[in-house]
Amino acid sequence: MPWTERQQALLQGMGLKVWSPASTAGPEASTAPATRSEAVEPPLERPAERPVSVVKTPPAPSRRAAGSPVADVAVPVVAAPSAPAGRADGPVATMDWPALRAAVAGCQACALCESRKNTVFGVGNPAAEWMIVGEAPGEQEDKQGEPFVGAAGQLLDAMLKAIGLTRSEADAAHQVFIANTLKCRPPRNRNPLPEELAQCTPYLQRQIALVQPRVLLAMGRFAIQQLLHTEEPVGRLRGKVHEHQGIPVIVTYHPAYLLRQPTEKAKAWQDLLLAVQVYRRSQGG
Ligand code: SF4
Repeated sequence: MPWTERQQALLQGMGLKVWSPASTAGPEASTAPATRSEAVEPPLERPAERPVSVVKTPPAPSRRAAGSPVADVAVPVVAAPSAPAGRADGPVATMDWPALRAAVAGCQACALCESRKNTVFGVGNPAAEWMIVGEAPGEQEDKQGEPFVGAAGQLLDAMLKAIGLTRSEADAAHQVFIANTLKCRPPRNRNPLPEELAQCTPYLQRQIALVQPRVLLAMGRFAIQQLLHTEEPVGRLRGKVHEHQGIPVIVTYHPAYLLRQPTEKAKAWQDLLLAVQVYRRSQGG
């Protein structure tokens, strides 16, 4: 079955070229203007339909699903190892949203507090059914105090839109909550240090516990390390359903990486499709 015109437009918003069999391709598929990234990307294919497998997810209630064209695929479920002992058991673990926001705003638990302009707490619906976890704030995030702004943020917005989600105001089923593993920018965008991640992790853990999303989307190496406690590369972790605190986790590439490696966008799209499938399954669908 070919993609609808609307679906094609959304995928092209991600910078993806939509593949259709010659026999079914509509005129818009063959005449759509190509972007720079499309010129080097492999054709996007739908995942093949496979037998349904069991995915461990929360009980199914009556919330609406995000609209998206998704075929059911069987995916292995990988249980996360136990979280290491840390500050998550301390006072942060019992904070409500206002207390947590204030704690982050005034945090001096690591040296990043000295060079930050703003803390980057997170944005979105505190009752969102989807939660995006990124890595560390960059220059623009530090300036604006919001995660995923600039070119990477625009790509993330396009990716979310393609599966019917938004960071803007919407109902909990369609609005995401976005947070980073680190709430302060590392100088010159260097990689986070282990001690910085260890100090900051309780804030993210508490955000996840408060949001209680149906699906967690971990974007990039450091987000994955914090949620899954593994140093396996993203490429080896993709295509499986992991778990964090009983919540299904889908891993994918960070939008900033996709901007540098646009040929990987097709894989990111497959990851999004998997996430939608897991979300629907959590609803009993
Ligand atoms: S990065 Fe996290 S732990 Fe370090 S000062 Fe900022 S909020 Fe505190």
